[in-house]
Amino acid sequence: MQTAMSTATKSTERPGIVYRTICQNPGCGATFDLRITPDNASLLSGTMACPRCRRHGGMLKPQGRQGNKLFAAKLVFRATGVPSRADDEEPLFGEDQPY
Ligand SMILES: [Zn+2]
Repeated sequence: MQTAMSTATKSTERPGIVYRTICQNPGCGATFDLRITPDNASLLSGTMACPRCRRHGGMLKPQGRQGNKLFAAKLVFRATGVPSRADDEEPLFGEDQPY
C-alpha cells in the first residue's frame, strides 16, 4: 500500500512540542506521544487520562529533554485506596495518672 505523503513541509514547523509519555499505571506502561500545543497546554498543569488504559487523573511529569521539541515524561497517578488517616487516638488505659 502506497501512501503518497509529501515531506516537503520542511519550513513549516508544527506548533508545540512532543512529550514521549510513559504511563505509570501498574499493568499498563504504555508509551505514547503527546503533542502539546498552545491549545492544550493546560494538560501540563492538569490531569489527563491515559489513551490506552483509560485511567483518569494522570499527571504529566516532565523527565527532561530528549531531542528537538521532544521531551520525556511520565504519566503518574495518585495512589488510590489510601486509607484515610483518621485521627483516632486510642485512649491508653493503664497510663500513669497523677493522683
Ligand atoms: Zn495507561
